[in-house]
This record gives sequence, C-alpha cells and structure tokens, in this order.
Amino acid sequence: MTKAKFLLLKLLLLLSPYLLLADGHIFVYHRFDDNRYPTTNISTHTLKKEFNYLKKHNYKVVPLINIVKKIQAGEKVPDKWVAFSIDDGFKSFYTNGLPIFKQYGYPFTLFIAVKYTQEKYRDYVSWKQLKEIVKYGSVEFHSYGHGHFGRMSNAQIKADMDKGLAFMKKHLNYQPKLFVYPYGEYDNRVEKIVNSYGFEAVFNQNMGAVNGSCSNAYDIDRSAVVGSNSKDFKLYLYFKELCGVHFKKPLSFPKNKIVKTVEVTLNDKSIKSADIFISNHGWKKVKVKNGKIIYHANKRVYRDRIKIGVKVKNKIKLMVLSK
Ligand SMILES: [Zn+2]
Repeated sequence: MTKAKFLLLKLLLLLSPYLLLADGHIFVYHRFDDNRYPTTNISTHTLKKEFNYLKKHNYKVVPLINIVKKIQAGEKVPDKWVAFSIDDGFKSFYTNGLPIFKQYGYPFTLFIAVKYTQEKYRDYVSWKQLKEIVKYGSVEFHSYGHGHFGRMSNAQIKADMDKGLAFMKKHLNYQPKLFVYPYGEYDNRVEKIVNSYGFEAVFNQNMGAVNGSCSNAYDIDRSAVVGSNSKDFKLYLYFKELCGVHFKKPLSFPKNKIVKTVEVTLNDKSIKSADIFISNHGWKKVKVKNGKIIYHANKRVYRDRIKIGVKVKNKIKLMVLSK
C-alpha cells in the first residue's frame, strides 16, 4: 500500500462514524479470476467475501435501473441499496463471475464494448453468451470500439456510437437505456454528443456514492472494485455523495504525467476550504472561492492509473484517470 493510500484509508476509518448513514452505492468490476491483468481483476474468492458481507449486513442488491429511477424521480436512494455493474464484456465474467451472481441471486448490468464481441476477440463474451447473460441481468452500452472519446472528433464519436447501437439492435434486439464512457473519460463536448442519444442514465468511474435527490442521471459515480482496490470495498460503502461537486480539470490522463491544475466547482458558495488528493502526493488543503477550487498543482504522477480526489466537510469524491 502506498503512503497516500494508507492515509486515505486511515482518514476514512476515522471519519466512518460520521458516514455510517451513507447513500446508495454502485460498484464496477471488469475481470474475474484472470490473473494476467491484476489491475482490472477481482478473484471470485474476494467477490464471495464481498457478497457475504452485503448479505450479513442486510444490504439490498438492486438492478442498476432501480437506482436510475430514484434519481429521475428526485428521490433519495436508500442507504442500503447497492447495484453492480461490469464493464467491457470480458469472457471471464461469463465463465467465473456469472455463476456467483447466479448463486447469490444478485442482479447486475454488463456494459459491453460491442466491437470485441462482434469481431470475436478471444477474451470477450460472444453474442450467444450474451443472450444467456440477459436471463440473469441486463446488457447495456459501453461504445463500439472503446476509444478515448476525448481524443476523437465529433464525427468519429457519433460513428462509433451508431455502429455499436446498430449491432446491439441486430443481435440482442435491444435499444440500450444506459451508457458508460470508455475509460470514464468525458468533457462538455463528449457529454453533449452522448446525451443526444437519449439514454436514461450515463455513468462515469468516479469513486463516489449516489444520493438520488441531488444526483445527476447523466453523471453517476461508480466505484471500481478491481486490483488492489478490492480490499477497500467496505470503505466505499461509507462514501456519501458530494452533492453539487463537479470536476472540471483534469478530465483526462495528464500529458507528460504532470497534473497542472485541478479545478472543481461546488454548488455551496459558503464553503471556504476543501482538500484535494492527487495520487503519489496525498491530500492538500486548498481555498474555495465563490464555490470554485483552482489548485495549481504542477505535480508529477508516477502511475498509468491515477486518482484525483476532493474532500469537503468529511465527504469524499475520487476521480480515476487511466492512460
Ligand atoms: Zn471499459
């Protein structure tokens, strides 16, 4: 465990008495029992431990769409609600993950990057397997080619979306209601294009919670329980949504690995100070002026997957950026 991570854990544990009543939570997994890719993998042993914890503590695992309905209605998501999503459509979900979801009777939503199924990549589920998977959960959309939308032109993004949606219609006879940004990467331009497709909800990969009454259905946080994060599962259950907090910069992995400026906006203009977290550098106290944080960090990061976090009044939100 890195020092920064250890401090974050410690901080969360210290705060946990204040966070016990903590909004709903959405988790995201990728691969199951696939040790070739440790940073996106979870072992089924750990998965079962997590499911047992939820059972023991009376959490209610609901389909993702139920949380979306609450947000649309402007109602608070019950504190003990948890929903599971699985990104990309790796075959290891079908072979190793699905049997466990079936065993526990837990619903899930699988977001597929259609190209890999359509072009029969070895590591990905087939259309035939997807037809079986929809008997137990839902299959939704995660783009066609899983590109970095932030680096693609408007026309390229639209072509990618149209192609993926057409294949889902053709093979599953389904018009997806939910969307996940590839790499969790988006900015105003990308957001606008994606929202023009009329999805009921769009998800990112910021570690956070879902309050419901203050959540934006087109920017819903999900916590990634993969690799070394697996051991933080219980801590993520304590997260509360930071209502009205939006990351403005950086929105994609920083060029040359240097985080220049961190910019965050808050709805609450009475807040005067906050803390900003940057991987490898830990937390730093910053001033908030008129609901705006502008932190000129100029910090070099040393990994290909980093977290930028903000903490306001004991609540934390983390954004994950991958190279
Ligand atoms: Zn993905």
